[in-house]
Amino acid sequence: MRMTRQRRRILNLLEASERPKSAEMIHQELAGESLDLSTVYRTLDTFFEEGLISKSSLKNASYYYLRRKEHHHYMICLSCHKMIEIDCHISDIESEIAADHHFDISHHDMTIYGYCQDCQ
Ligand SMILES: [Zn+2]
Ligand SMILES: [Zn+2]
Repeated sequence: MRMTRQRRRILNLLEASERPKSAEMIHQELAGESLDLSTVYRTLDTFFEEGLISKSSLKNASYYYLRRKEHHHYMICLSCHKMIEIDCHISDIESEIAADHHFDISHHDMTIYGYCQDCQ
């Protein structure tokens, strides 16, 4: 993947964010950079395919956030979209599940949704 200036800007934005962002939000925040919405969508798709970002669905929209090097999961607040990092315990049982179902697991994704302490 070629890291163009536009792609770098979008990635930096996600890097600096503590909350997942939708394509529309990114588009808005980068207003004035002559970046159209379809470019933002395409870039996010590319990042997702390259494994740079993860995607979660909140209220029928897709929200994107950076996939960190260390593997872990997030709890996302449905109200304020705050992300709380949680350890992964799926890896522990993954090989067992794979054997049970003769499944060749490449990776997994999991997000827990709910309401944070402030929003309850
Ligand atoms: Zn909240
Ligand atoms: Zn995991």
